[in-house]
Amino acid sequence: MFSDTHFHFQNICNSGVNGVEVLSALAERNTFFGLDIGTKAGDLAGRQACVEQAIAGISDNTLAERARRFMYFTAGIWPDVDAIHDRENQMKLLRESITAVAEGGEQDTLNRKIVAVGECGIDHHWNPAGVDGRCESDFDEQTYRGERELFEAHIELARELKLPVIVHSRDGFEDTLDCLKNVGYDNGIIHCYSYGIEEARAFLDRGWYIAFGGAVTYNKKAKLEAVKELLKFVPADRFLCETDAPYLAPVPLRGTINTPVNVEHVYNFIAEVRGCTPEELSELVDNNIRKLFFTSVVE
Ligand SMILES: [Zn+2]
Repeated sequence: MFSDTHFHFQNICNSGVNGVEVLSALAERNTFFGLDIGTKAGDLAGRQACVEQAIAGISDNTLAERARRFMYFTAGIWPDVDAIHDRENQMKLLRESITAVAEGGEQDTLNRKIVAVGECGIDHHWNPAGVDGRCESDFDEQTYRGERELFEAHIELARELKLPVIVHSRDGFEDTLDCLKNVGYDNGIIHCYSYGIEEARAFLDRGWYIAFGGAVTYNKKAKLEAVKELLKFVPADRFLCETDAPYLAPVPLRGTINTPVNVEHVYNFIAEVRGCTPEELSELVDNNIRKLFFTSVVE
C-alpha cells in the first residue's frame, strides 16, 4: 500500500533518518513500489549501495525480501548550472553508469532495476540569495539553451533505452513543453506537478503521467480550491503520488525531514478531494505504476 514514485533515499539517510526503519515500515505495509531518484551523473552506484546497506540492516527476512522487491532506481542529472555547462561529459558519464549497471549483475539483484531516466528537466526558479544553487545571474542565453539541450539529451537517451522519463519542471512550462515537442518522445512523469489545469491538459494530451506530492497539502484557502479542481481534473489512469523526500514533507509534518513513509498523508489528502478512500487511490496508483514502468514501450 502507498507506493512512492519519487524520493532520494541517500539524501534521506544523510539527513539523519534511519534508512532501515524507513524500508521496514514500507515493507510492513506491503508497499508495491518505491522509486529512488538520481540527480547526478555518477550517483547511481552510491545510491544502490546505500539501499543495499539499509536492506542488510533489516533483521526480519520477509521484510528484507519485500524491500528488495519494491525498490527501484532511476538515473539522471538535475539541471544545476555546473551540469548544464559540462553537459556533454555529464551525459556520457550518465550513459556509461546506466549501461554498466544493465550489463553487470544478476537478474534479481538491485543492479537490473533501473526503470527510468531522470530526474531531468527545466527549473527557472531562483532566489536572490541563490540558496538553492540558482541565481538569476547564472542564466544568460547560453545557459538557458544548455539547460534545454541537457533535458533533450535525457529524453533522447530514454527513447533509446525504451524507458520512461522523470521530468522536473518548475517555473518553466513553455520551455519544458518545447523540449518534449522537439524530441517527440512522450513517456513518463511530470513530477511534483506545480502548474494549473491548462498546462496539465497539454502534458496529458501528449501522454504524460502527473505526480502530486506534499506541496498539494500546503495551500492556503485562496489557492486551495484551484488545487482541488486540478486534483479532480487529472484522470484516474494518469495519476501518481510521491513525496520527493527528504524534501517537501506533507501537512501535518511540514518542516520535518520527509520520508516515503509520509506519502500516506498525500494519499489521504488527495483521496478526500477525489471522493475515494486512500486504499482505492493506492490501488489506482499501483495500476498506473504497472502500466508505466512494467508494460509500456513507446516508440
Ligand atoms: Zn526529486
